[in-house]
Amino acid sequence: MLSLIIRYKGHSLRLVVSVKLTDVLPETPCMECQRPAAWLCLECVYDLAKPGLLCDKHNEAHPHTDYGEPVPLVNSPRVGMCGYEGPAEPPY
Ligand SMILES: [Zn+2]
Ligand SMILES: [Zn+2]
Repeated sequence: MLSLIIRYKGHSLRLVVSVKLTDVLPETPCMECQRPAAWLCLECVYDLAKPGLLCDKHNEAHPHTDYGEPVPLVNSPRVGMCGYEGPAEPPY
């Protein structure tokens, strides 16, 4: 099990994701290529019971939008630096 803190629409929440890790990695791996992930797809987590972790490359090509765009992982150094807040006021 992997515990993540994610920020979504201005809220921070803790999410526990079940992932199989053969090694203890310093970063959360992309579920497609095992490179460090910077994004979390909520549709994968909730609907498909997959880790939902995506690197920049696989996030761009990811088809799921039912729960909105994949959310940035707060524990990614790049996300913390640029202060990404997402698009303002999605038209729901
Ligand atoms: Zn990837
Ligand atoms: Zn997904």
